[in-house]
Amino acid sequence: MTDSFKADKIKEVSQALNTCTMCGFCKSVCPSFKAIGWDTALSRGRIILTYGLLHGDIPADESVIENMYTCTTCADCVRRCPSKVDIVDIIELCRADLVKNGHMLPKHKAMVESIRKYGNPFKEEKSVAETLGRKPHKAKYAYFAGCTATYRSKKTAQASMSILDKLGVDYTTLDETCCGSVMQRVGVDQAEVTKLMEKNVAAIKAMGVETLILSCAGCYRMFKKEYPKYVDVPFEVLHMTEFLAKQDLKLKPLEGKVTYHDPCHLGRHCDVYEAPREVIRKFPGVDFQEMKYNRSTSHCCGGGGGVRSAYPEESMRIAQTRLDEASFADIIITTCPFCVTNLASAVGDRKVEVVDLVELIDQRL
Ligand code: SF4
Ligand code: SF4
Repeated sequence: MTDSFKADKIKEVSQALNTCTMCGFCKSVCPSFKAIGWDTALSRGRIILTYGLLHGDIPADESVIENMYTCTTCADCVRRCPSKVDIVDIIELCRADLVKNGHMLPKHKAMVESIRKYGNPFKEEKSVAETLGRKPHKAKYAYFAGCTATYRSKKTAQASMSILDKLGVDYTTLDETCCGSVMQRVGVDQAEVTKLMEKNVAAIKAMGVETLILSCAGCYRMFKKEYPKYVDVPFEVLHMTEFLAKQDLKLKPLEGKVTYHDPCHLGRHCDVYEAPREVIRKFPGVDFQEMKYNRSTSHCCGGGGGVRSAYPEESMRIAQTRLDEASFADIIITTCPFCVTNLASAVGDRKVEVVDLVELIDQRL
């Protein structure tokens, strides 16, 4: 092999690579395989590619890089794998080695450089608190809006703050920086991600916060699952739906047939399945129907893992599949600005609305 690829992080998973029996059960669930159609674009194929890189059998060429970066990190393969191989871990460690070897994708590079300069991936110069129009102050509760809800899916952040206002919660916004999800998903060195984690935790602690509330499934996963691996998290972490499930909400009815899309980051990655459904049931007489694939078997929206930015066509094909599965519904409710954006941009002529649960709650509270 002529390529100078140096394996580092993937050495940690050399045993896991050998645990895969190549049974192919992951093939039945992998959304990127369904969108692309090649074995190299599914969990098993990505394990073989990682094995090849580890042992110097294949070069880190364009096709290897593409196959490692078309994974949405949805973790449906992890659920399905009878050998319990932690495939997402393997893929993310492989991405980390690709980045170390100078193979970061240009779209990802632009986002990462923006986070380094502005604290968000969108090259926005105004801080989150400034953009939301609320100054941080000492409070028991804090709302962590996240970059996507602050700068792109603004209705999610506005609705979340409006709900907290209507419920009379004394909460603060934060001098937040990107939660680190983008960097971690695309393979930036963990030491740099940990610095973002430390910065956010310090900003939250400085406000005397006891409970952090988040409306973005991606940011929530970071604070709930990833932060505690690297930093001390001395406050409670709640997704907005977990907070709202405990509230006595007097809501106006919601018309039409509704269904719920489980974001991978909230569902499979964090096991939060019931809180959003409990909140949806608070709409009087709601006409709710589950999709065939729901809770732990929910199919991905196609937007995660850096796929939407780097491979938008594949991302759209995955979103179309999910929309087909909800063809009976007038409204697809979800609880992540990423899922809303990706599914909504694939709607086209369909007569369906994709909306974040917080917006529906705010309109009817
Ligand atoms: S389901 Fe698990 S063991 Fe089977 S091929 Fe996929 S990764 Fe390997
Ligand atoms: S995490 Fe999802 S997209 Fe990635 S290999 Fe597994 S099933 Fe496929």
